[in-house]
Amino acid sequence: MSKYNTLKGVADIYTPEIYRWQTIEDTAREVFTLYGFSEIRTPIIEYTEVFTRSIGQSTDIVDKEMYTFNDRGGRGISLRPEGTASVVRCYVQNNLHTLPAPQRFYYTGAMFRYERPQKGRFRQFHQIGAEVFGSEGPKVDAEMLSMINVLLKRLNINDTTLEINSIGCRECRPNFRAAIVAFFSEKEAHLCTDCKVRLKNNPLRLLDCKNEACATLRGGLPSIPDYLCDNCRGHHQRLKDLLDTLKISFVENPMIVRGLDYYTRTTFEVTTQHLGAQKAVIAGGRYDNLVQEFGGPPATAAIGFAIGMERMAELMEDSSARCQPPTRLYFAPLGKEAEAISLSLCESLRLRGIGVLCGEGDLSLKRHMKIADRFNAAFVIIIGQEEIDRGETLWRRLSDGQQGIAGITRIEEYLALIP
Ligand SMILES: [Zn+2]
Ligand SMILES: [Zn+2]
Repeated sequence: MSKYNTLKGVADIYTPEIYRWQTIEDTAREVFTLYGFSEIRTPIIEYTEVFTRSIGQSTDIVDKEMYTFNDRGGRGISLRPEGTASVVRCYVQNNLHTLPAPQRFYYTGAMFRYERPQKGRFRQFHQIGAEVFGSEGPKVDAEMLSMINVLLKRLNINDTTLEINSIGCRECRPNFRAAIVAFFSEKEAHLCTDCKVRLKNNPLRLLDCKNEACATLRGGLPSIPDYLCDNCRGHHQRLKDLLDTLKISFVENPMIVRGLDYYTRTTFEVTTQHLGAQKAVIAGGRYDNLVQEFGGPPATAAIGFAIGMERMAELMEDSSARCQPPTRLYFAPLGKEAEAISLSLCESLRLRGIGVLCGEGDLSLKRHMKIADRFNAAFVIIIGQEEIDRGETLWRRLSDGQQGIAGITRIEEYLALIP
C-alpha cells in the first residue's frame, strides 16, 4: 500500500499513455509552427484579478472553481484556470503590440479548476492553446480553424464535428441579451437554481446549461443570428464562405456561447460523440475587447482556442500514436569487464544519436534476452569473456535470430546493423 496518493481529480501520466501525449504535443508544435505561431510560457500563478477581470465575476470558473489563496505576503493569488488571460496579461505588460502584427502564440500546460471529477474531467487538466492578436478580419478565424483541421488530420482523429456560432459584439449583444432575458423570465420558475442566478448575471449561459429541464425550456428561443448587427453578420458570413473555400465542413450551433465573458463574435467547438458528456475537445473564439480591458491599446482584435489534452489523448487511444521509442541495440555484458566495455560502447553510440540500452554485468544471458525483448530491442550484443579475448562481440537479431560478429571497438560495425 502506498503511504501517499494523488489528490482527488488529478492524475499521474506515464507510459504508455505519455506517448500519446507527446505525439499530440509534438504534432501540435509542428503544425502551429507551419502557421507562424511561436511558443509562449506564462506562469502557472497570477494575481487573482487577472482571471476575475477577464473570465468574468459571474462565471462558474470564478464563482466556484478557482484555486485561490493568499500567499505569505497576503496577496490574492490563483492557479490559472485557463490560458488566455495570462497570455493577454503578458502581451499587454510587455508591450508586445509594438512588435509587427499579427502576433501568434501557442502554449501548453496544466490548468486548475475545482470541479467535480468525472470521466474526462480533472482538477488539474492540461491544454494546448493558441492566440492571435491584431487581426480583426474573419480570415484569421478561418485560418485558425484550418490549423485545427490540419492538426486533427495529422493525428488521424476523424469523426469530430466543427460547430460555429457568432455571439455578436458590444453593439448588438445587448439586444439579444435582452431578448434572452425576456424569453426566460416568463419561465423563471422552471429554471434550475444556477440558471435563476444566470438570468440576472450572465443570461447567455442559459443557452448551454446541461440541466435537462433547462434544455427543454429552450424550444422557441429567439434566434441569436437575427439580432446580430450588420458588421457581425458580415464577419460570420465571410467566415462561412472561407470555410467552404477551404472545404472545412462545419455546422452552425447558435447554442455555443462559451462560459467565459470575454468572447465576442466567432465562437466554436470541435465536438465528438465518443467521450460521453464531455463532448467538446477543442473550444475557442474571438475576444476583441479583452486586450483593451487589460490596459492595452483599444481595438486590438484577438482570437484563440484551447485543446483539452486529456480528452484528445482519449480520442487517440485507437489511432496511430507513437509507442515505445526505439531501443535499437541492447548490450548484454557477462561479467564486470564486459560491463565496462559495454558502457563505453553505449556512450559512443548515444553520442551518435543511437538509442541503446546496457544491461548489468551480473545477469545471466537468459535474463538479458528477456529484458531486450521487453524493450523491443532490434539487436542484442553479447559480450562475455570469450568475446573479450577474441576482440569480437556476438550480435543477434531478435526478429529472426540471425547472428554475426562485430569488432569489439569498431563502432561503425554496430552502426551498420541499424537500418
Ligand atoms: Zn455586432
Ligand atoms: Zn439550468
